[in-house]
Order: sequence, then structure tokens, then C-alpha cells
Amino acid sequence: MNKPKMSTEKGVPSNSRVLMLLSQLERMNGDAMEKNVAMTRQVTAKILHLIQTQEKSGKEVMSKGSSGMEVILASLENTQDVQTILNILYILSELLTVGRGRRAGVFVSKGGTGILFHILITSSKELVPSEELMLQLHSLLAKVGSKDRKFGVKARLSGALNVTVNLIKQNPQNSKLLLPCLQVLRVYSANLVNAISLGKNGAVELMFKIIVPYIKKSTSLLKVALDALGALLKSKTNARRAVDGEYVPILLALYLDWHRNDTRHRHMLIRKGLLVCLRNITNIKLGRKAFIDADGMRILYNSSTECLPVRTLDPLINISSLIMRKCFPKNRLPLPTIKSAFHYQLPHVPAVGPVAQLYSQPPGVDDVVDESDDNEEADADTENDTDNEEEEKEQRSLNDDIETDLNKLHPKKSLGRPFEELRVYERFFLELSEDFQGYNIDSSKTSSTTPSSVSLSSWSASTQSTQPIIVPRDQALSPKHVPALSCQADCSPTKGISMQPSLFAPTSTLPASLNYLELDAIHLTKEQDHKENVHIPSADTQTSLSSLNFTGSFSQEQVKEQELSHVLESVSIEEQMPREAREVKQEGPSVNSTRHIQSPLLLGGITTRRVGGGGSNWGSDCGSEGADDEGGEGAVLEVPDTSLLLPLHNPDLYVEMVKGTHSVPQYAEVAYPDYFGHVTPKCREPLLERVYGVQRLKIFQDIERLIHPNDILDKVVYDLDIPSCPVIEGNGESLKFNSQFESGNLRKAVQVRKYEYDLLLNSDINSNHHHQWFYFEVSGMRVGTTYRFNIINSEKSNSQFNYGMQVLMYSVQEAISGRPCWARTGTDICYYKNHFARSSIATGGQKGKSYYTMTFSMNFSHKDDVCYFAYHYPYTYSTLKMHLSKLEALRTSQIYLRQDVLCKSLGGNDCPLLTITAMPDSNSNDHVCQFRNRPLIFLSARVHPGETNASWVMKGTLEFLMGISPLAASLREAYIFKIVPMLNPDGVVNGNHRCSLSGEDLNRQWQNPNPELHPTIYHTKGLLQYLAHIQRAPLVFCDYHGHSRKKNVFMYGCSVKETVWQSDIKATSSDLQEDLGYRALPKILSQIAPAFSMASCSFVVERSKESTARVVVWREIGVQRSYTMESTLCGCDQGKYKGLHMGTRELEEMGAQFCVALLRLKRLTVLHNHQHLLDLESDIIGTHTKVVSSPTTYVMEEDEPSFLEAIDYSAESNDEDVEPESEHGVEVSENSNHQDHQSDSETNHRD
Ligand SMILES: [Zn+2]
Repeated sequence: MNKPKMSTEKGVPSNSRVLMLLSQLERMNGDAMEKNVAMTRQVTAKILHLIQTQEKSGKEVMSKGSSGMEVILASLENTQDVQTILNILYILSELLTVGRGRRAGVFVSKGGTGILFHILITSSKELVPSEELMLQLHSLLAKVGSKDRKFGVKARLSGALNVTVNLIKQNPQNSKLLLPCLQVLRVYSANLVNAISLGKNGAVELMFKIIVPYIKKSTSLLKVALDALGALLKSKTNARRAVDGEYVPILLALYLDWHRNDTRHRHMLIRKGLLVCLRNITNIKLGRKAFIDADGMRILYNSSTECLPVRTLDPLINISSLIMRKCFPKNRLPLPTIKSAFHYQLPHVPAVGPVAQLYSQPPGVDDVVDESDDNEEADADTENDTDNEEEEKEQRSLNDDIETDLNKLHPKKSLGRPFEELRVYERFFLELSEDFQGYNIDSSKTSSTTPSSVSLSSWSASTQSTQPIIVPRDQALSPKHVPALSCQADCSPTKGISMQPSLFAPTSTLPASLNYLELDAIHLTKEQDHKENVHIPSADTQTSLSSLNFTGSFSQEQVKEQELSHVLESVSIEEQMPREAREVKQEGPSVNSTRHIQSPLLLGGITTRRVGGGGSNWGSDCGSEGADDEGGEGAVLEVPDTSLLLPLHNPDLYVEMVKGTHSVPQYAEVAYPDYFGHVTPKCREPLLERVYGVQRLKIFQDIERLIHPNDILDKVVYDLDIPSCPVIEGNGESLKFNSQFESGNLRKAVQVRKYEYDLLLNSDINSNHHHQWFYFEVSGMRVGTTYRFNIINSEKSNSQFNYGMQVLMYSVQEAISGRPCWARTGTDICYYKNHFARSSIATGGQKGKSYYTMTFSMNFSHKDDVCYFAYHYPYTYSTLKMHLSKLEALRTSQIYLRQDVLCKSLGGNDCPLLTITAMPDSNSNDHVCQFRNRPLIFLSARVHPGETNASWVMKGTLEFLMGISPLAASLREAYIFKIVPMLNPDGVVNGNHRCSLSGEDLNRQWQNPNPELHPTIYHTKGLLQYLAHIQRAPLVFCDYHGHSRKKNVFMYGCSVKETVWQSDIKATSSDLQEDLGYRALPKILSQIAPAFSMASCSFVVERSKESTARVVVWREIGVQRSYTMESTLCGCDQGKYKGLHMGTRELEEMGAQFCVALLRLKRLTVLHNHQHLLDLESDIIGTHTKVVSSPTTYVMEEDEPSFLEAIDYSAESNDEDVEPESEHGVEVSENSNHQDHQSDSETNHRD
């Protein structure tokens, strides 16, 4: 017998009557209680009375430090007298009614629940159990049930489940007793094991006896019964029971009855309860079948449509749409196979990996939806206790991909290949041995240095070597297209710019007077440069001068500001270009005047191609624009004059470049946007505001296809799998599609309704998935009509298209009217899981995966326009070659620029390698030494072809590095830049999203690249290994990427310390010795670049990323500052660009700012300004605790705000919810379950 002491005896006012009574009760606890039943009844009745009448009494009993609850519970436990028990239950009921959950929590913590169950069991054994006792016990259990995490287990172990069920069975009409019993049943059923046990005991059928058609009274009873039933039906066994009992049509009929009769929407919760039951039953395949058989689709579709105008009924519509989506019959994609439409024969198939898997598949496995995917016959409910669900969830939210092996966390230089083998890379580093004796780079102003000589000499050096280093084709073009700019040599600004090192090397002894002299010289030079080289913006003269004036106390901030504005201007539309500049710019074949070209653009002797809808020729259709040519051959096309705005662009040169590009489908066409070029529009492009209910509306339109199948055309209008593609000769009723040009990606287009098209993207070559990137042409459109486009085989589980991102469109009509640009467009954009799926075999043993729909609507402004749509601003391999060729023209006598071909890609395309630095001031020993010893910066980009933004950032970097600004000159003086601007040319050319021709993600091959299958990675790594071997490992390595799921620009780096912090591994302090230098560059970027966000950066090493460039270069080459820089495909949610899309201007600006940040880094490290560096770093450490950077590279749910509209991506049965949903390093599954990254690691990450 428990005899707790009333701890309130002392120190509590003795006039507290309730406490005195409690003390009395306590003294009677035990034997006295049995002997003096009347007394106990009396005391408990008095206590009850006090608590009922005086609020303070209850407070005194429950006050902190009081043992009132213990005494009450002990008495309850000790007494056998029903009246006393009832008294105490009444007391408890009064006490627990107030104080919200806290008092119930105290009750539970003192073991109250167990005592109640004990009494319940004991009393149920009586011949005639007291109804009042049962009522009170259940009322109290209902009150505390949700507060006790072990409630379900306690109930089951005590045997209380059946007591409650039997009570309900025996008292079907006793609504007073029924209500608390059902309430308790509802709590019991939340535990899955209980639900199964209750189901065996007939609880499901019991609930169906209680729920009835529309009535006005006792609705609360009905509501609780529905809730309990809903909970019971979460068990698959119970769901099957409900199907077998043919309850699905009953539920639907009940729902319809309530829907019709509850006209004032007073019983929404009952209607919702009925839907929840249906939702849970349809988690099993049998349930979905029963739902379809009972005409559930039509019933829910019609009722939901009627609910649409009433906003308060949204929850009903949302659950209905979820059920309908789930039950929508799963279908395979309308394709003969999900393997790429193009085939490329690999030299050999690797023994393991995704390609091996693909090749070993029996034919046709991807053609069916695997029935076993949702076959529940075998899978019984798991007998796990789920009372601790919350705890489990907390556990799972930890990032279990984190690297916890300390050995792997410590960079270990490994040279891999023997030096003799690495020696072949020596020729890519001529600058490290160049003595310049053959050059006249004397500081004399009459220097006759020809800027191209360096390049030529290096080319000849390359060609002499035995390795297949191929002189790029553009060399052949250079006399015509890339004239050498030699004029500025006369007034060589070399000396002037050579002052720049003095800004960073205080030892410089240049007299001040000389500085001024030199400034004059620069002034003249710049003027002249400016007149003769249109790539220099007009404001530049001033910029250069004013920045140079800071010589002594050089203000980085100011220069930076001007520098960045310079960058901005250089890519913006400037009409005030001096007239003479226009003329000077005219070089090679004229491109800026109206002229005849063959329309459309074709290579290789084909002279006509019919474009445009309605069977008419595009050339004649745009005759209204001026020219008129019915013939269709050589239609008049006014080529927009972009030469002033796009100094690196030249349409003719582009076509030349395309001729040398090797594509698997052997494309012979050129897309107009790539030919004309893209000029950044002047206006800002805000993110699209999401319209309320847009997703729901789109889903309902999809469901209509099933409800009204006769309205569906299902007409294939484009199909790469059919040799005669495009299939449809336009009759004016359909749009025309095309994607057969470089980087194009569209496999099939199906006209589903008059103005609606389903589009399918092509898989990456040698793969059966990775589709996200799209780039295609549309023509034959009408004006004043809204077209809906659905890309139905998207793969990622979420997309920025749900968070404001719009698609990009390029209108040829706009282009020839002088606005050649990609513009953000499209309305009603959303992204959701659809009813297409592929088999588990095709996904490599996982459960079948659902696809996602990206839908957008479009109103075209021009009749018979030719428009292009793209996922992001296209940047083809031919564009890169054109830009590199034009970059030569930006060379001045101070710039050392060398272009090499690192290797051939698998598909036979050259992989360019650039070296940019400053020429030495002279060929004196000192200057040549300084030249050779500059630290190296190693940059790469576009390993992932779908991340075109990486190329635009790279373009910004390259243009900045080749610029004439003092900052650019300082950068070149400070570093040697080694740049591989496109690591995956084949992927880019062939319109892949993720992989190379080998069907693999090249950024997962860095640990062990294969020279045959991954040549670009193998040789880029070779360059780095060579550098490590000669003790010249780069100061910074950065690989540019694009991120589809996050906003802003950010970096991933590698830090032992931060990885250890984020995991639970034990590490000694010596393990954590680490220079914080890796944080300096991102920190600087967050200070100077408005799009950059430190909060999104992460420095954690994850296992699934151990074969990425960043981790391998850090671990094997020993580069501490080894990064991935991720630029959003969407826009920003912070800083100056908050709420705006990132355009090419902002991306290029980012590339320039990256350079500026490198210069600052130089200032911090080379100036030996350790104090400054320490300040910066202590600043970094100080703010670390405020989560300056992210603990993971995975996308977290809080990364995006939720909308008003309930977004449910996972319209799937429960069993599928736990399948891996993640793609490319992102986790947005609704239940935030942690998923197995390893199993899907090659698609899992965004690096
Ligand atoms: Zn990437």
C-alpha cells in the first residue's frame, strides 16, 4: 500500500481546508480506509465539493510542491469502494478540466493512467459493472490519453482494449456512455498494433454500425466514430477488412448524402472524416480498385467541383483530389521505352554502375508498371509499436550521410599515377617554364609585341607533341573573324598597369611622380582602346582613371563598385555607342544589316526546312514584318544587330562552330536563339506569384481526362522514336514542335485537348532517366489563345517551378524586331506528382517511381511566330567555342592567354583548357620569376549539362579576366588561371541533363576516372595531380554548378571541423586542427555579391559526395579551398535581387564578382596581413553559432515557405511514401523521412 506523505503539511497556510482534508485522506490510506468506508466517502465528497465550488482549492491541490495528486491517486489505488472511487474520479475530472494539458501531464507522470486501466479491468469483471463508473473512467481516459505517450501500449497490455469495445457493442443506444468510449477508442487506434488488434475484435464493423446518413443530432458521436474508424483504417489489415465488407460504396454514399444535405456546411468535420476513411482505405491496392469500381472518381470529382466556389471547403477538395490522384490508374509513359531515343555505342561497358545495369536489363522491362510495386498481399502490418513515433522522427532527421570516418576527413595527398605518366601534362603548363627570351616585352613604349604570338607559340608547341592535342578549328577562322588587336601596343599601357602590383606589394618603390606620368599614358591608351574595341563600355575610361587615382590608399570597395558597374554595363543594352565604334566593329562578313539568309538555318547543303504552323512557311508568315517571299527558299530575315551588345557573339561564327561540333543524332540545324544571340532584357523579371489553387485546378483538369475520355484527342504531333518525325503535317489545328538542334531536348509531344499538349523529355544517352532539362521549338500558334503545356516525365520530387520560377521563352518575331532575348514567361506554373510511373526493375531494384508534371500556360503574342522554350538560358558547346574564339580578340599585350585542347571527349569534341595570366613586365629574371611563381587558381564548369547557368557564370569570369580594368589586370598579375570551362561537352551537345555519353554522372567519377569513358575528368584530374606533384597545387579550386531546388548563389566546401560538429563522432582536439581559410572566400563573396548567401553554404563532407570534384581535390590533391559554387536556376530570396529571377546579367556579374573576391583573398593572404585575416576569421567563428552556414547540402523543408494552397506532392499510398523521393541532393518528401542516400547516390546530389 502506498503511503505518500502530504508534503504540504508544513509551510502551507493551515487554513487551507482542502489540504487539511487531503492530509486526513492520506492518514486514512491503507487499512483505515477499508475499515472506515463511510469516513473515506465523506472526506472525498468534501474535497470534491470544495474543488467544485472554489477555484483556489483546485489550485492548492495542483500547486507546485504539493503532493496532492499523489495522495489522490494512492487513495484511488487503495480503495475498493465504488462510491469512493467515483468521488475521486469526479475530483480528478474537475481538476483535469482546467489547466489545459499541464495538470493532465502531472496525472500521467504520477502513474494515473495505469491506475485507471487497473480499475477498468477490475470493475469489468463484476457481474454487473457500474455504468456510471465505466462512464467516468472512459471520460477521464479520454482526457489524458493524448498526454500519455505510452497510452496505447498500456491499454493493450492491461487488456483494456476489449473492455471498451465490448462496452460499445453492448450499449449501442446509450449515447451518453458511447461518446467517452469512442473517444478512448480513437486514442487506442492511433497505435497501429492496437488498431490491428481492435480490428480482429470487430471494431471496424462496429464503427460502421454507428456512422449513419445525414442527421441533425448526435453529430459529435458520429464525428468521434469517424475519427476512430479513420485511425483504425490506417492498418492495411483493417483497410482490407473494410473492402471485403463492401464498405467503400457505403462510405461514398454516406459522403454524397452529407454533401447534399449539409447545405450550410455546418458539418464539414463529418464530411472530412468520411473522406479520411476513404483516403486510408485507398492506401491499399484493393481499396483503390474498390473505389474505382464504386464510381468513386466521378462521385468525388463532381462533389469537389461543387465545393470549389466555397473557400472554407478547401480541406474537402484537397483530400478528394488526393484520393483521386492516388486512385487514378497508374500508367506507363506513352513511349516504346524509357531508354534514350538516341543510342551511343560505348567503347566498353563498365562492369558495374548504372550503365551496366541498363545494359543487363531484359528487353522491355521498363515498358510496364510493375504490379509488384503495390502488391500488398504479402505485406502485413508491421507489428512495431509506434507510440514513439516522434522520437524516431527526431532521430531520423539527423543527416546520416555525413562522413564520420576521421581517416577520410583528413586530406591525404595521393598522387595516384606515377610521375612519368603525369609528365604528359607538363605541356599544359608552359607558363611555369616559359623564359620569354623570344619575346620583346621590354617596357619600351615602342614594343612590337604581337598579342597573338604567345598563343601561336603555345599552339605550335602543342601540335608538336605526340599526344593528340588538336588545334581548335577556330584558329582557322581567326584571320577572318578574330583580328588581332595590335594597335594599343604603341602606347603600351603595360607600365601603367604594372603599377598594380604596387597596390599589393608595399615594397614597390615607384616614385609618386612617375605614377602621375603613367596615369596620363593610361588615359590616352584607354581612350584609344575604347574607340577601337567596342567591348569596352563607354564609362570605362573614367572608371579606370578614378580607380587608378587611389594608388596609395587603394580602396577596394570603391573600385569594386565601379568594377561591377562596368561589368553590368558591358552586358546591358547601350545605344549611345559612338558611331565610329560601330564601324570599327564591322569585321568579317557583315552581320548587322538586313540580309538574306537561308531560312531556316540548316547546315550541309539542305536548303529548305519548313517551319511555322499551318503548313505555311515561316518565311512567308513573317512577311507582314516587311519582306515577302513565297518561295520559302532564302526568305528574308532581318538578323538583329547584336554585335555592339554581344561582343563575344557572331552569328556566322556560330554556324562555323556548329559545323565542327559532333552530336550523336548528327544535328544539322541551328536554333535561332543560339544563332541570333541573347541580349539581357532591360526590365527586371520578378518571380511569379503563385495563384491560389492553381495546382488543384490543374489536377482536376487531369482527372477530367478519366471522367470525360471522349474529350481527349491524344494525337501525337512530334515523336523522335518515329523515323519520319515530326509526325504531323500541320493542318492548322496543332502546334508544331522541334528539338533537333544542339542541346535540344524534347522527345515527344501529344496533343491531348485542342490547346493542351503533353510533352515528354528524352533520357540522357545511355540512361533511362535524368530528364529535367528541356529546349525545344514551337510554331504554328494562334494569338489570343491560352495553350497549356505539361512536361509529364519530370523526375525530381520538387522544383523551383513551385516557388516562383518561370520558363524561358525566345520569340523569333521579337528577335527580328530588335529584341533578341530569352524572357521569363508562362503562367499557372506548378509541379506535382502525376499518375505515370516506371517499374522497379527499370529504376534498379527500387520501388517503381512516379513521375512529376511541370505545367505552364502560355499566351503567344505573335501569330505564326517561332518560339523556343527552355529550362534555363541555353548555352551550347558551339556557343562556348564561339566565345572562346572571340575572347582572343580581347587580348592586349599585357594578357597572357593560351588555349589548349585538354583532350577529346568520348563523342569526339574538344575539351578546351584556358590559361590566363598577365605577361611579365619584362623578360628580366625577376619578372619572369614573379610570372612563374604566381599561385594557381583552377576553375571548371558545366560537368552537368542541364546546369547552363554555370556556363553563364563562367562567361562572366572569363570576360572579367580578359578585361582591361585595373582590377582584372591586378588579378592577372596575382594569379595564373587554369580554366576548363566545359567538363562535359558531349552532354551539353546532346541535350543531356546530368550525364555524359557514358550514361554516368561525371561528377561522381573523380575518385577513379576511366581514361576511356571519362576522359575530361581523367585529364583534368591529371592536371591537378601534376600540379600537386611539382608542389604547385592550386590555391583555390572551384567547380561551377547550378542548383534547381534552392535560391541564391552559394558554395559547398570541405571542413573536418564542421563535419565533426554536425555529427556525433568523437574527435580529439588534434583531429580538429584546421585552418579556417576555407571560409574566407565565401565570406568575402557574401559581402560583395548581392546574390550570394552565406546561410546556404555548407562545409560538411558527405559520403555520397566523396567522388565529386570538390571532395577529391580537397582530399587527394590537398587543396584546402576546394569548392562547388552553386547558382540558382531560379532567383533570389535575399539581398538586392530579392524576389527577382536571376538573368544572364546577374549570372555573369556573379562570375565577375568571384574574380573580385579572389583579389581580396589575395590581399588577405599575400599581404601577410595576418591580423586582418584573423579578424575576418574570428568574425567567421563568432557567427558560426548563429548558423551562418547550413549543416547539410540537402534541401531542407524550411528552405521554402509554404503556400496558402495545400501542396501535396505525394499523392501516393503510404507504402510508397517511404520510397526514396530524393534527387540531386534534395529532400522534400512530405513526411521528411530520412532516406537512403547511398542507394540513389548518383542522382541524389546537386554537386
Ligand atoms: Zn551540378
